[in-house]
Amino acid sequence: MFGIQHFLLSIILIIVTVFYSVFFYYFLEDQQRKTDLILENIRHDLSESAYVISTETHNLESIKGFTSFLNRKVANNPLIDSMAVAYGNQILVTTDPHILAPPPRQLTVSRFDKISAAQLIQQQIFEAPIRFYIQDEPHELSLFIYPDQDYLINYFSQHQIDFIVLFGLIPLVLFALFWLALRQFLTNPLEKLRQYAYYQSEIPSQCKIRELEYVRASMVQTFDRLEQERDELYRLARTDELSGLANRNQLNERLSWLIAEAARNNSEFALLFMDLDDFKKVNDSLGHEIGDKLLQSVAGLIQDVLRKYDIIARVGGDEFVIVLSHYKNNLELTHIIERVLARIKEVHLVDIHPVKVAASIGVAFYPKDGNNIVNLLKNADIAMYEAKNSGKNQFKFFTEELHRQVLAEIELEHDIREALDHEQFELYYQPKISIHDFKVIGAEALIRWNHPTKGFIPPDQFIPAAERNGMIVELGWWILRQAIWQQMQWKQQGIIDIPVSVNLSAVQFLDNHFDENFKDLIHTPGFEASKLDVEITESVFIERSHNNLNSLFRISKLGATISLDDFGTGYSSLAYLKSFPLNTLKIDKSFMDDYASETGAAFIETIVKIAQTLKLHVVAEGVETHEQLEYLKRIGCDSYQGYYCSAPLPVGRFENFIREHIAAKFCD
Ligand code: C2E
Ligand code: CA
Ligand code: CA
Repeated sequence: MFGIQHFLLSIILIIVTVFYSVFFYYFLEDQQRKTDLILENIRHDLSESAYVISTETHNLESIKGFTSFLNRKVANNPLIDSMAVAYGNQILVTTDPHILAPPPRQLTVSRFDKISAAQLIQQQIFEAPIRFYIQDEPHELSLFIYPDQDYLINYFSQHQIDFIVLFGLIPLVLFALFWLALRQFLTNPLEKLRQYAYYQSEIPSQCKIRELEYVRASMVQTFDRLEQERDELYRLARTDELSGLANRNQLNERLSWLIAEAARNNSEFALLFMDLDDFKKVNDSLGHEIGDKLLQSVAGLIQDVLRKYDIIARVGGDEFVIVLSHYKNNLELTHIIERVLARIKEVHLVDIHPVKVAASIGVAFYPKDGNNIVNLLKNADIAMYEAKNSGKNQFKFFTEELHRQVLAEIELEHDIREALDHEQFELYYQPKISIHDFKVIGAEALIRWNHPTKGFIPPDQFIPAAERNGMIVELGWWILRQAIWQQMQWKQQGIIDIPVSVNLSAVQFLDNHFDENFKDLIHTPGFEASKLDVEITESVFIERSHNNLNSLFRISKLGATISLDDFGTGYSSLAYLKSFPLNTLKIDKSFMDDYASETGAAFIETIVKIAQTLKLHVVAEGVETHEQLEYLKRIGCDSYQGYYCSAPLPVGRFENFIREHIAAKFCD
C-alpha cells in the first residue's frame, strides 16, 4: 500500500523520465540538423569558391588576384573565419596573414557527411581541391576554409541554453508547481480529513477540489450529527426527563467533584434530602398526570429559589436531593431551606387544579455527617424521616443520636420478625371488673416479649418503634389472631366467655388490606363478633381520619365493640365522641393517680358524665387502691382495671385468677 503522494510522485517521475528522453532525443536531432546546415553552408562556399578559382585561373600568379574574392566570402559568411589557397606546401593566397602554411592532413576534412556538432566545434578545417590547367597541364591547388571557432561555440552553446531553458527548466518549474498544487489541493486536505476522521479535532477548511469538498462536507455533517446525538445521549443519561433536573448519575458525578474539592479546601457543604408530604394522595386523587405536573412545578420552584451552582436532582418519585455549598453560616442555610419549604407550600396551579403540597427535608453535612456520597445520602434520608415523624413540612439536621435511633429501629425490625417466627411474643391478660357486681366482664390483651438474649422487653419499648417502622401491622395481626383464639379456647373449655380487648394502633389502619383481613378474622368459625373489643387511641382520628372513620364503622358493623383508650390525654374532642361509633371510654391512669386532687377529680367526673350522657360505657384504668375504687363507685363509674384487682397475667395464671375469682368473688 502506498500513499497518494508516492503514487503521484512515481507517475510524475515516469512522465519526467519519458519527457526528458524525448527531449534529449530531439535535442540531439536538432544539434545534428543545425550542424548539417552549417556544413552545407560551408560546403557550398567551399565548392563555389573552388569552382570560380578553377575556371578563372590560368597560372599560379593569377591566383593572387582572388584575394579580394576570398575576403568578400569571409566577410559575407560569419561561419568562416578565414580562407586560404595552397599549392603543395606553399600558401598562395589567404585572408589571414597568420596562415603561413597549409594545415596538417589530419586536421583537414574534405568529406562532409557524418560530422557531429562536437567535431565541428573542434578544430576542423575544410578542404576542397581546385583543379586547373596551365597550357593543358593539370595542376591541383587546395582551398581551405577555417570555420570561426568562437562563433560556432557561441552559436551552439546559445542554442543549448535556449533549449535547456525552454524544454528543460520550464517543465521542471511546471512540475514543481504541479507538485505544490498537488500538496496544496489534494494531499494536505486529504491528510487534514484523515486527522479529522481520527481525532475530530479541528474542522478542515473548505477543499478546492469538488469531490474532496463533498467528502469533507459530508464528514462534517456526519460528525456534527454524531456529536449532537452523543450530547443528547449524554444529556439524557444525566437528566431526569420529567423535571429536567439532574438525575442520580449526574448527582453522583457532581457530588464526587464537590467532595474532592471540599476535601482540598477543607470546606463543608450541606446535602438536603427532600420528600414531598403525602404526594401519593395527589397521585391517587388527581391522577398521575397531575402528579407529574406537580413534580415539574416543584422542580421549577426549587430552581427559582436556589442559585445556578447549587445542585438540584430528582432521585425518585417525589424525592429530591439539593446540595448547597455557598452559604455563609448555618443561619443563612436555614433561611435558604425555609425559603424552599415556603415556596413549595404555595398553592400550585396544575392545569386548572389548585394543588397544595408540602415537603420534609433532612440535612446532612460534609464531612461531619459523612465523607462519601452513600453516607451523606443515607444520613440526610434519616434526618428527612425524622422531619416526617415530627409532623412533616419541616426540616431536620442529621445527628448521631438520630443515627443510633435508626440503627436500633432497623435492628428492632429484624428482631420483631424473628420473634414472630420463634414465638417470643406472648399475650398477658388483665381482667376488667364491673364496679356494680365485681364480676369479670372482660380482659385486655397486653403483649409481652421474652427476648432470648435481651430478656423481658416491655411493650412501651417496642410498640412505638414498631409503629414507626410499620412492623406493628404484622405484629398486630398476630395479636388479634392470638386473642381471638384464646377467647374461643376459654369459652370451649368452659373457663369463661368474656370479650377480649385488643389494642389497635393507628398505623394498623394504614394497611390497605385492613378491612378485609379484619373481616376474615372476625368471621373465624365459632367466634362471636361481640366478644372482640378494640381499643383505639385518639391518634386514629387524626391520621387519615376519613379512612379511619370508615374502618371504625365497618368494625362496629361487624359486631365488635370499640373502646377509646387513654381518654383525656390527647385532643379529647367531643366531636369524635359524637361522630365515631364508640362503645366505651377508658379513663387514663394519670387521672386516677390524681383522683384525690380537685382538678383530677373534676376531670374524672366530667368524663364519667360525658359517657353517661352519650350512653357510653366507662372503664377506669390503673386502679391500685381500695380508696380509688370507692371513689369510682361513688361517682357512678361502670368498671375498672388495675393492680388492685390484678396485674396483666400470663394465660395460665389468668385462668387460675378466674377460677379463684368466681369462687371467692373478690376485687370489691
Ligand atoms: P395501655 O393500652 O394503656 O395499657 C395499660 C397499661 O397499664 C398496661 O401496660 C398495663 O400493664 C398497665 N397497668 C394496668 N393496670 C395498672 C396499674 O394498676 N398500675 C400501673 N402502674 N399500670 C397498670 P403495658 O402492658 O406495659 O402496656 C403499655 C402500653 O403498651 C399499653 O398501654 C398499650 O398502649 C401498649 N400495648 C400493650 N400491648 C399492646 C398490644 O398488644 N397492641 C398494641 N397496639 N399496643 C399494646
Ligand atoms: Ca389499652
Ligand atoms: Ca390505657
